[in-house]
Amino acid sequence: MSRKSSAKSAVRKQPRSVVTGAAGFLGSHLTDLLISRGHFVIGIDNFVTGSVDNIAHLGGNPSFKFIQQDVTEFIFLEGPVDYVWHFASPASPIDYLELPIQTLKVGSLGTHKALGLAKLKEARFLIASTSEIYGDPLQHPQREDYWGNVNTIGPRGCYDEAKRFAEALTMAYHREHAVATRIVRIFNTYGPRMRLHDGRVVPAFISQALKNQPLTVFGEGQQTRSFCYVSDLIEGIYRLMMSNTSEPVNIGNPSEMTVLEFARDIIRATGSKSRIAFKPLPQDDPRQRQPNIDRARQILGWEPKVKLAEGLTRTIEYFRGKI
Ligand code: UDP
Repeated sequence: MSRKSSAKSAVRKQPRSVVTGAAGFLGSHLTDLLISRGHFVIGIDNFVTGSVDNIAHLGGNPSFKFIQQDVTEFIFLEGPVDYVWHFASPASPIDYLELPIQTLKVGSLGTHKALGLAKLKEARFLIASTSEIYGDPLQHPQREDYWGNVNTIGPRGCYDEAKRFAEALTMAYHREHAVATRIVRIFNTYGPRMRLHDGRVVPAFISQALKNQPLTVFGEGQQTRSFCYVSDLIEGIYRLMMSNTSEPVNIGNPSEMTVLEFARDIIRATGSKSRIAFKPLPQDDPRQRQPNIDRARQILGWEPKVKLAEGLTRTIEYFRGKI
């Protein structure tokens, strides 16, 4: 943030944040955290993958204003803004397979509009980037200085390249226009408000287990992921925005497991009678993924706290109410 805008927010009692994708899984949790920490939040969403249910509890809250808009269009906002959090994007593999052009547009044009807003308002800007920028990684665990291994023309290319472009544009605004920017690379995250049918492994396995249907493990289930509970992730992202680093920072849980182990954990945690059904592995599905979080530990004093068993209990409870 420039000196001028720091001075402005110092005199203003309530910081003003803009959250794009505010009706999404992460955007809505972020909005709740910001309001609880005293922010006024202007949430923007076009409901392509977000849901009004995720923000319904904020109706009538004097610290929240909602604008239904596609952020690839010019964002016009009156009044000051201190922080822009750019979270709008389809984010599950089946969503971006169905919406490849929207995914590319929100990562490129949407990031451009959100950065333009931050520049105009002299606000800090944070882009929700992703572990997908590492592609099917040849370095393991992934550190922020790894450049990645992405198939540009594969089915995930629309998401991976949109986010890589978004990071590049963010750095260009930082270098060219001195916008105070932050880049968070988000690894697999789970928790309440994920969509039941978004195709990601957590809602897929939990809903199958709760219905005693077979859990669809792709490939032989030997690919690995590391799952971070949503409250841990949002805390790390908040700390990153409030830090003074413009370098990318991985936020995720380094506790890695195979998808098959994860399926068994879900069966145990739900007390389900489901068995496992092996299905073909989707193209370009990364074989391994685990964040190196040394940078987050050093710069933000952050590391995840919620154990998988505890996070799963809360998430399963949420999905029981949805099935
Ligand atoms: N996966 C699976 N069964 C499902 C959904 C996903 O085995 O019903 C696997 C998927 O192939 C991937 C991992 O679980 O290896 C995580 O998938 P997800 O879609 O949650 O996100 P990704 O980490 O691939 O972006």
